[in-house]
Amino acid sequence: MKTIFKKKLIHFIKVVFALIIVAIGIIITAYLWPTSKLQTPVVFEKTIIKNVNIVDAVTGKVVKNQFVLIENSRITKIDTTHITVTDDALLIDGNGKYLIPGLWDMHTHSNQHSEWLHHPLYIANGITGVRDMSGQLNEKDSYWVGSKERLQWNKDLINNKRVTPRYVLQSSYQMDGEKAIPEDLPSFFKLKNPSQVDSLLHFYKKEKVDFIKVYQQLSKETYKALAEKAPKYGLHLAGHKPMFLSLEEAVNLGQKSFEHGRVFLYEFFPEADSLKNPTNWKAYFSKSKAKIVQQFDSVQAKNLMQLMQQKNAYWTPTLQTLKFEANAHKENFTNNENLKYVTSVRKKLWWKFDTDHNKEKNLESEGVSESEQFFEASKKQVAMANKMGVPIMAGTDVTDSYVFAGFSLHNELYELTRSGLSNLEALQSATIVPAKYSNQISDYGTIEIGKKADLILLNKNPLENIQNSESIDGILLNGVYYNKEKLTELKAFTETAASSFHMNVKTLISLVNSPLIRVQFTD
Ligand SMILES: [Zn+2]
Repeated sequence: MKTIFKKKLIHFIKVVFALIIVAIGIIITAYLWPTSKLQTPVVFEKTIIKNVNIVDAVTGKVVKNQFVLIENSRITKIDTTHITVTDDALLIDGNGKYLIPGLWDMHTHSNQHSEWLHHPLYIANGITGVRDMSGQLNEKDSYWVGSKERLQWNKDLINNKRVTPRYVLQSSYQMDGEKAIPEDLPSFFKLKNPSQVDSLLHFYKKEKVDFIKVYQQLSKETYKALAEKAPKYGLHLAGHKPMFLSLEEAVNLGQKSFEHGRVFLYEFFPEADSLKNPTNWKAYFSKSKAKIVQQFDSVQAKNLMQLMQQKNAYWTPTLQTLKFEANAHKENFTNNENLKYVTSVRKKLWWKFDTDHNKEKNLESEGVSESEQFFEASKKQVAMANKMGVPIMAGTDVTDSYVFAGFSLHNELYELTRSGLSNLEALQSATIVPAKYSNQISDYGTIEIGKKADLILLNKNPLENIQNSESIDGILLNGVYYNKEKLTELKAFTETAASSFHMNVKTLISLVNSPLIRVQFTD
């Protein structure tokens, strides 16, 4: 009896062991599985768009029946009469269609898998430029990308070797003080005191970064030193308003862009100083959300908005994130047809927790939930800021929950119009305003001779209805034409990648291996 049992046990162990080996083998194979590559369209020496209606993003006028000539990635002629060229030019029929400048998403987070999961969707949706708000430290991260990768992507785009939007400005890693930095890295990343600021700025200058992304928990002294010294290195500050100083101080110190819809809400209520206390701001916030909205002082807010206008400080409200929080309990919101473009790893290990948490909070509340109040209040503040002349930029916060690369930018434009921007102003928030912000208005933002041919051909006029920005017939990126079939192919490419076992394994392993992700999640 004993020996039979022993034999059975040994057999059982052998089977389990074999299964483990097989499972490890499958995971390793999936991890190493070669990823497919997208082909870029053929480059033509000359491209002509015939008889198209050009939307002037400055005046809001539509200039009808124009011929646009594109050579070497730039617009070289715009004419009312037919432009004759050699037979080998690409002719695009613009009859009855509308041409707008390529759209920029001014708040994204790309990662090592963006080539498969995000870039095709950006291009398919006419997002020709992005300002990515994340970066790396001194080592290549398994998950996040930094300026090195993104500058290479830009080069590949110019050589037509890669399907990617332009990465219009390069970001540092998010600077959040000591706790946000893994142990064994150079200590200046921790920004424990102002004396470390020069080393940090020097490092990022060398990495060809354009701005330091500032985050919540930087100390006031260090932030001040950063703000004062950054311009000497040709860098600026962009990101969150650090908690422990006022928005007024940050604006006066020259921070160039402020992110997210809550910026003004945190600032203008009677107990706002409680949020600036490093030891208990989180506890205070969690119990005071309703109060923050109800006691909002719009007179003070307007004064600050006026200061922002004077100091040329930009606001990227990323309404998508607040919209998600406000709607997480609604099935017609969470049943999104774009979920097929997102890996199961992200949906199940990240978005689900976020959704469940917000859903529960929303369902618990009687009447209008706090998140809904926050969302509505932010939209009102967008209207106020817009009236006061604060430059507003469209940004989405891809890869946050229920934010979809490319698609969500169109929804952000829609939400901006629901917040009181005109269709033209919404269009400007993703064209002229970001181009000015980035000091690249001589190349982008409008359709003019000499500018880069990053353009969207639409079937319908977005000035009549902003949702017409989605009626995309074709895209020109760096002068290269992506026709309707190509755009469909791009979407299918990401859909296949997102649902593939190997991409899910790669994503999971890159997340688990990233020391930066580990620190972010334990914070
Ligand atoms: Zn973000």
